[in-house]
Amino acid sequence: MKTRDLEAVKLMIELYCHGRHGSSKGELCEDCKNLWEYVQLRGKKCPFGDDKPFCSNCRIHCYKPEMREKIRAVMRYSGPRMLFYDPKTAIRHIVETVKTKRAQRKAESKGKKDVTYAEKRISRKESEK
Ligand SMILES: [Zn+2]
Repeated sequence: MKTRDLEAVKLMIELYCHGRHGSSKGELCEDCKNLWEYVQLRGKKCPFGDDKPFCSNCRIHCYKPEMREKIRAVMRYSGPRMLFYDPKTAIRHIVETVKTKRAQRKAESKGKKDVTYAEKRISRKESEK
């Protein structure tokens, strides 16, 4: 993942933690610290490296379910707020998400299996618990 994207994610986690968990500005509670460490780790391990799409579109598929839920909650909370704190990043994010979704739809109509197969495997794992 690009460093500037990673920084945007950090800001989003900070906003979320501040708003939801009442931590002081720029600080993270234990839970969010873990999430942030996980995000960085996944970012480093991702096979797409710097070419990776900005946000949920790809990344979330390689997150384990627990972390996926957490980062989703963060995005839901901080996404709209990013327009206020960091409009440039937020707008770039929206543009890239739309682009990725469009590309994904194209890819899906060509070869649907990949995404749906991964999704099915994840939901199966979740129901096994
Ligand atoms: Zn927190």
